[in-house]
Amino acid sequence: MDTISFTKKPLGVGTVEPALTPPSVDTAQTTFTKKPKVGAGKAKKRDIPEGLWTKCPTCEAMIFDKELDENLKVCPKCGHHFPIGSRERIHSLVETCTFEEMDAGMTSVDVLRFKGVSTYKSKLEQYQKTTTLKDAVITGLGKIGPHRRARGVMDFGFLGGSMGSVVGEKLTRLIERATEKEMPVVIISTSGGARMYEGMFSLMQMAKTSAALAYHAKHRLPYISVLTHPTTAGVMASYASLGDLILAEPGAMIGFAGPRVIKDTTQSELPPDFQTAEFLLNHGLIDAIVPRREMKAQLIEYLNFLAAGKKTPATP
Ligand SMILES: [Zn+2]
Repeated sequence: MDTISFTKKPLGVGTVEPALTPPSVDTAQTTFTKKPKVGAGKAKKRDIPEGLWTKCPTCEAMIFDKELDENLKVCPKCGHHFPIGSRERIHSLVETCTFEEMDAGMTSVDVLRFKGVSTYKSKLEQYQKTTTLKDAVITGLGKIGPHRRARGVMDFGFLGGSMGSVVGEKLTRLIERATEKEMPVVIISTSGGARMYEGMFSLMQMAKTSAALAYHAKHRLPYISVLTHPTTAGVMASYASLGDLILAEPGAMIGFAGPRVIKDTTQSELPPDFQTAEFLLNHGLIDAIVPRREMKAQLIEYLNFLAAGKKTPATP
């Protein structure tokens, strides 16, 4: 935005402005050389290498996509955590070839025959096609370090990671299987909340998953909940906040209602870092912030700790 105002200024002032504007030297140089051209075209030019480069929203560095992928979608310059798909995340956290997916073919049924701008059925078909996922969670059993444990990983790319009956049912089955096999559970959440296309059927999943976790806890088995950007609403109000250990990725937005709703309801100013992982760590809701690249090692350490003194966890 600053760039546009810079280009509109007459020559003398324009040469002064870049020193104030750019956090990155590269960007400033690019805009400067392009200055004689029309201002509106510049912003476009910067975005042209789509599919090859990604601009970091925090430090504005241009990152080569391959480098970003190799770095688990974390900005190598400032550590900003970009969204990551459920499959990539499983790949980064599970020992190679040990993941056995459960209920892979389960799909939602449009019980309410919901019609909005488009039908729920068409939405499902569209997202299944674009993401190649059946729904917003992948569940299964896999090994991490020496531990075999149950894992559920949500995907924000599928209808905002919303929790419908499939997400609830798959997670419940996963937790029940873990209880039966005496395994720890790790769930990595990212969600906009309950899937309102399914009305009450979606809200029921909060109680169902929580009950399954209570039964799991009764068997003195550990559950680690990992909150990633964003984890909100019905998911946060159920299984995501029920972990024996609750971890979060840096900068993740975590909360129930959005900040605007809270501000309007309470009629008070909110702190600037409200609903971030860092704020919630300071206020005791979460136990640790773990960067994505350290997540696997940390999970192994926590699982070692939680398994100590208990009988050996189930082995394949
Ligand atoms: Zn960055």
